[in-house]
Amino acid sequence: MERDSHHALSQTNLTQHTPQRPAANSDLDAVLEQAKDQLQLQMLLIEVASCDDSADFALIARAYDFARQRHEGQHRKSGHPFLQHCVEVARLLAQLRMDDTTVAAGLLHDVIEDTTATYKDVSNLFGHKIADLIDGVTKIDRFTYESREERQAETYRKMLLSMVKDIRVILIKLVDRLHNMRTLDYIGADAQERIARETVEVYAPLAHRFGLARIRWELEDRSLKFLHPEVYSELREKVSMKRREREDYIEEFKKPIEIDLHKSSIEAEIGGRPKNFFSIYNKMKARGKPFEEIYDLLAVRIIVDSMRECYQTLGLVHAIYRPIPERIKDYISMPKSNMYQSLHTSVIGPRGLPVEVQIRTRDMHHTAEIGIAAHWRYKAEDKAPSDLDQHMSWLRQIIDMQQEASDPEEFLENLKIELFQDEIFVFTPQGDLHQFPKGATPIDFAFNIHTDIGMHCLTAKVNGQVVPLSTRLSSGDTVEIVTSSHQSPSRSWLDSVQTVKARQSIRRWLKDEQHAHSVRLGQELLDRELKRFPDVAVKYDLTTIANELGLPDTEYLYAALGSGDLSVGRLIGRLFPQQPKRSKSRKQDKRGIRIQGMNDLMMTFGKCCTPIPGDAIVGLITRGRGVTVHRTDCPNIGQISEEPERMLQVNWDMENDQAFTVQLRVRSHDRKFLLSDISKALGDSECNIQSATTRTLGQIAEQDFWVDVVDITHLQQAMEKANKIEGVLEVLRIDEQFDEHNQASKN
Ligand code: MN
Repeated sequence: MERDSHHALSQTNLTQHTPQRPAANSDLDAVLEQAKDQLQLQMLLIEVASCDDSADFALIARAYDFARQRHEGQHRKSGHPFLQHCVEVARLLAQLRMDDTTVAAGLLHDVIEDTTATYKDVSNLFGHKIADLIDGVTKIDRFTYESREERQAETYRKMLLSMVKDIRVILIKLVDRLHNMRTLDYIGADAQERIARETVEVYAPLAHRFGLARIRWELEDRSLKFLHPEVYSELREKVSMKRREREDYIEEFKKPIEIDLHKSSIEAEIGGRPKNFFSIYNKMKARGKPFEEIYDLLAVRIIVDSMRECYQTLGLVHAIYRPIPERIKDYISMPKSNMYQSLHTSVIGPRGLPVEVQIRTRDMHHTAEIGIAAHWRYKAEDKAPSDLDQHMSWLRQIIDMQQEASDPEEFLENLKIELFQDEIFVFTPQGDLHQFPKGATPIDFAFNIHTDIGMHCLTAKVNGQVVPLSTRLSSGDTVEIVTSSHQSPSRSWLDSVQTVKARQSIRRWLKDEQHAHSVRLGQELLDRELKRFPDVAVKYDLTTIANELGLPDTEYLYAALGSGDLSVGRLIGRLFPQQPKRSKSRKQDKRGIRIQGMNDLMMTFGKCCTPIPGDAIVGLITRGRGVTVHRTDCPNIGQISEEPERMLQVNWDMENDQAFTVQLRVRSHDRKFLLSDISKALGDSECNIQSATTRTLGQIAEQDFWVDVVDITHLQQAMEKANKIEGVLEVLRIDEQFDEHNQASKN
């Protein structure tokens, strides 16, 4: 069953032998033209009738006529009449056994984009269903957007939205692209590359998502031909050279299987499995291996009649050839999200060669080849809507994401990520199955269950064990989320989440929260500053000033102050132009800004002095980054005290016990068990030790510990305990600044 012509969907080219359309200037020409028209339409109708003899043939004939009239005089780059493209698209849809509406829409798919016909024209003549289908595949008007990216992103958005309303849009779009790829030889090299790239980046993955494997392969292989012509022709040549050898091997491999299948009265079709060039190329690239090593992976497909026989056949194959553990996958009981079902196994075949085996029923095979198209008819008859629902939920997620994406670049980026992800399956404690992209974490899981659960997820249990929230989930895991109303998303979550839903919910929350913080902080900053002018009764209008500064309102004015984008000094200068600049020795307002610990979004903690609750601290306003908190004795502060308007009084206001990491240095006489004694002392003080280093300087041991403490009292207790240990000379709190200083003085 090795593919020779390589592409299964047949391609007929009615006018292939008449490269240029002759001008219909004689009666004979006109008659010929008409005959060709008739033939083209009749071939299409025969194709439709072969799978549905109750189809509305009159509708298709009307659509054909309308397309012929509207595209009259238009030619493709190949010289062929434009209409031929429309007919090919319709034929491909008919071959996918799509209904009459879709076939008609296929004929008309370019009339809105490429002719004077409007949505209304089509809707009046063919109804809104067909008009909507066509509108879904019509590019956004080229004059609406400035950049190509923007227009492209908007076109994808529009297409995705139309797909949610009617999934047939994607089938029309995919076969349209398929025919364009089949005729790509005729257009300019630049456009060839651009279109081929878009095909592998968006359309082939979309085809994969909807289970249209055959179309996907052809799209990929045809793209490869234009993106890497040398690779393509090399692969073609090598694949055909090895064919004989492979066919012989497969014969040898399948013989004992056939005998046993026959004994068990299982009727089966066993064949070699074609691999597409593009996936061979990708594997060669990813694994850095030559063609021979990749292509020598042999693959066999066994097609049987029932699901039961699939499992029987699997057992039978395993009895003949030794299976490779962990390569057995049951996609029958757990179908992929594109509805793909099959049993996969790899076994050691004759002469010790590994062979991949796929086992499935005919129906499963059908679905594996044409995916959603196989299910469309069931949907129409209300038989298997749940299968389609799976696709729809994925689509809706994509749509959700596109509503969040602010610029076209981000949207396209997200779309490509979504399209390319591999998937895993995990369970809720109730046994509900959820699909995730590979690498997903419990946070993704939480957001997938409900945004609220994601927002408040505190810890996660995977298979009963408490794990960090950043743990990568594996297929088969049971995941349980513990929430707390006090918990809220953290910026660090963004580093590990894989789903667009989680990422965007977290981003949005952070953005809102940061804005709210900035507004609060900005307001406080301004209030404090205004107290310096108790006697100056000046009327001022903050809104006017905000507008003068290019900000929409006072809220944004406060936010700009709080985020450090606008200095208080500059604002005061505008409010009270006559006032002298304040002197440095001015008395500071005692009331400080409260900070609530590490999760405080507008606060960052100076890495130079690692302040912990209880330390005397001061805030420093940094442009665009809000406030950085330093210890008042931090050497960095000295340089900045020249600019008092950037200094800010801050107070600790801790609600719950948060851990702060500090570095401790313990100097002692070197002796046995010293490290374990110190560790024990720190542990007794309930200090979690993050890490430790040791070095010896003669008789003196110097050990650094990074420990988590709650506040200064906690730290002092721990230091006292460590100090009492036999042999310990001193215990110091170290900060990076100090360390760097030391390093510098040594040189
Ligand atoms: Mn088209």
